[in-house]
Amino acid sequence: MNGNNQPTSGNDLARFAGLNTFMRLPAQDSAAGLDVAVLGVPMDIGTSWRSGTRFGPQQVRNESAMIRPYNVQTGAAPFDALQVADIGDIAINTFSLSDSLRIIKEAYAGILSHNVIPLTIGGDHSITLPLLRAAAEKHGPLALVHVDAHADVNDEMFGEKETHGTVFRRAYEEGLIIPSKTYQIGLRGTGYTAEDFTEAQGWGFQHFLAPDLWHKPLTDLGQSITKEIGPDQPVYVTYDIDSLDPAYAPGTGTPEIGGLTTPQALQLIRALRGLNIVAADLVEVSPPYDTSGNTALTGANILYEILCVLPGVAYR
Ligand code: MN
Ligand code: MN
Repeated sequence: MNGNNQPTSGNDLARFAGLNTFMRLPAQDSAAGLDVAVLGVPMDIGTSWRSGTRFGPQQVRNESAMIRPYNVQTGAAPFDALQVADIGDIAINTFSLSDSLRIIKEAYAGILSHNVIPLTIGGDHSITLPLLRAAAEKHGPLALVHVDAHADVNDEMFGEKETHGTVFRRAYEEGLIIPSKTYQIGLRGTGYTAEDFTEAQGWGFQHFLAPDLWHKPLTDLGQSITKEIGPDQPVYVTYDIDSLDPAYAPGTGTPEIGGLTTPQALQLIRALRGLNIVAADLVEVSPPYDTSGNTALTGANILYEILCVLPGVAYR
C-alpha cells in the first residue's frame, strides 16, 4: 500500500460511524497536494420544480459509505495512483442565486489553481455554469459529456438567464464548450415547442434521445464518444441524476419517465476511460424525495465510477 489517502475501511470503523466525507476519505480544507478533490455545492435555489438538492452533498456522502475502494468489475483501483480527499462544501449564499454563482466560480477557480481534478456533488444543475466558466478559463473550451433527461438550453426562465434550465445555452454563447463535441445523452419528455429538441443540434450539439437508447447497452455509444473526442482534448462530464428513470432515481427535482437504467449509466461511464476528463459533477439529487436513499446511493456510485475512469487511474 502506498502513502495515498484511503477510504476508511468498514472493517476498521463501522460504516455508520465517523465523519461524513465522500467514501470516508480524509477531509482537508484545501485542494493543495491532491490529484482529485471531491467537493459539495449544497444549493437548490436554481431549480424550477421540486427543491431539496441543497441536501444532496450531505446525503450522497452518507450513502457513499458503502462503496469499497476497488472496482471489482472493471479492475480500477483509483486510490493506488491518485491522491484524493474531500474538501468540503462551497459556502454559497442561499438568499441569492446570482451571488451564489459568482461565489461558486471564484471558489472553483481557486480549487483548479492546485491542478486537481474536481468532482463536484450538487446541488441543482445551475451550479454547472460557474463550474464550466472556471474550468474553461483554465483549460480552454471543453468537450462536454452531458447526461440528462433535459437539454437545459432554455434562453430564460421568468426572465432569468441563469437557472438550472439555461446552463448549456449560456455555456454555448460564452464559448465555454465545443459545440461539435457536446454530447447530450438521455433526453426525453415533453417540451414547449418543437424546437426544444432541435435548436441546440443546429449549434452542433449531438443528441442521443432516451427512446433511441431503450433496451440497448451504452458501451458502444460511450466508446464512440471517447474515440471522437480523442485522448488529449479536456473534457467536462456533467451527470444529472434525472437522466435515469424515476424507477431508479426518484429523488430528484424534475423527474421524467422513460429514462436510462442504472446498468446503462455504468456502461456509459466505463466506456469513457481514455478521455482527458478535467472535471466532473453529479447534480440534482434531492434527498427529501429520496425516501429509500437509493437515488443518493446511485449518485454516489456514479461519482465513484467517474473517479475510476479519470486519467492516471491504475488498473489491477
Ligand atoms: Mn439538468
Ligand atoms: Mn434534468
